[in-house]
Amino acid sequence: MNDATDIQEADVLVIGGGLHGTSSAFHMARRGANVIVLEADYVARHSSGVNAGGVRTLGRPLPEIPLALMSREIWHGMNDLLGEDGGFVPSGQLKIAETDDELEACRQRVALLESHGFTHEKVIDRQTVLDLEPALARHVTGGIWAERDGYALPYRTTTAFRLAAQRLGARFLEGTPVRRIEQRGTRWFAVTPHGTFSAQKLLVTAGAWSGELAQQVGEPVPVHPEGLMLMVTHRVAPFCSATLGATGRPLSFKQFDNGTVVIGGKLIGIADLAHRHGEVDFVRLVRSARTVTDLFPHLRHLGVNRAWAGVEAFTEDELPVISASRKASDLYYSFGYCGSGFQLGPGCGKLVSELMLDGAPSISLDAFAIDRFGRNAASSLTRAASLATH
Ligand SMILES: Cc1cc2nc3c(=O)[nH]c(=O)nc-3n(C[C@H](O)[C@H](O)[C@H](O)COP(=O)(O)OP(=O)(O)OC[C@H]3O[C@@H](n4cnc5c(N)ncnc54)[C@H](O)[C@@H]3O)c2cc1C
Repeated sequence: MNDATDIQEADVLVIGGGLHGTSSAFHMARRGANVIVLEADYVARHSSGVNAGGVRTLGRPLPEIPLALMSREIWHGMNDLLGEDGGFVPSGQLKIAETDDELEACRQRVALLESHGFTHEKVIDRQTVLDLEPALARHVTGGIWAERDGYALPYRTTTAFRLAAQRLGARFLEGTPVRRIEQRGTRWFAVTPHGTFSAQKLLVTAGAWSGELAQQVGEPVPVHPEGLMLMVTHRVAPFCSATLGATGRPLSFKQFDNGTVVIGGKLIGIADLAHRHGEVDFVRLVRSARTVTDLFPHLRHLGVNRAWAGVEAFTEDELPVISASRKASDLYYSFGYCGSGFQLGPGCGKLVSELMLDGAPSISLDAFAIDRFGRNAASSLTRAASLATH
């Protein structure tokens, strides 16, 4: 550890400059905390800058819904909050059913939500789907519509939170990987190749790399990386205004104002955690392209302009970890967003700031506690290690 004179001090250290790190930093700086964000590469380099931009409350697991609804309201007021809307377009999101069984599954899903008091997803019939999206193939049977959902531009959104945090005094250090974390007395120390940083409170928002840091404090958590893929097409005349998903097969689909179409939907490519990048598996991309041409036959001859993969953190129950440490004081985690953490970023940053600064978030985070995995943790860590090396 460096000599004490070299140590840069703050109230809060944040490890990781993705959307969850920048949003948490913004919300804490807004409350007057002195925040330093340490980022191994550059802000928004990983999932938060390269995702599909889906701002989706639709289809969330039940425990995430209160967080997603709260975050949705921040998206709608982003301009007032940050002076920039992140390119948010409230296009609505539509989940298409292609068979009667799928439509029945949609009905059951919405009935379940309503029994819990949630009314943001509505079942719509075939004609309403076709009225919303006239270019869709005629075999669709109906779907679920979430009117206040939409999409945004990931790099722009994450940068907007970073710049707003900076205006409030937060400092961002890029190219600054944290190698080691350690608590001494009442202070946390983060050791990087560019010096040591210290604060009373430490937040880990290191995405797919968070497990390594948690393990350093003896708190293993079953998080593993996946390389999620996207492709973007050449420009085509406007034909689709909503953000689309499918019920029976993976799909995330939207057309931007410039005519290009972004296609994804939890398409698994290759995650190389050690070398900090994702790789495209073109064979798997073909499957997704087929879903698109089934639903929009007129796109059959449309070319793909480029494809890419980002490294995302997954947990074994597909819920994130948003939690105080159970092993050490003043240590907090927010990671493992399983392919749908972009929409949650604005809201979870606020909840994390409440958890860290007040000791109690305004929405319960009990479902996301780090100690929920129990005895399965050790076996999943082995899986994480093997995925990282393949
Ligand atoms: C292709 C793709 C499509 C997606 N589509 C959607 C979508 O449509 N809608 C949606 O809601 N979500 C989507 N997601 C998921 C979403 O992007 C992520 O859940 C979210 O961005 C996670 O943010 P994060 O801040 O937790 O992690 P990240 O963005 O991964 O940020 C973590 C940061 O921590 C840094 N870091 C790691 N270790 C260290 C260390 N030791 N020291 C310093 N820094 C470190 C990393 O360099 C990285 O910048 C998608 C993801 C991908 C990959």
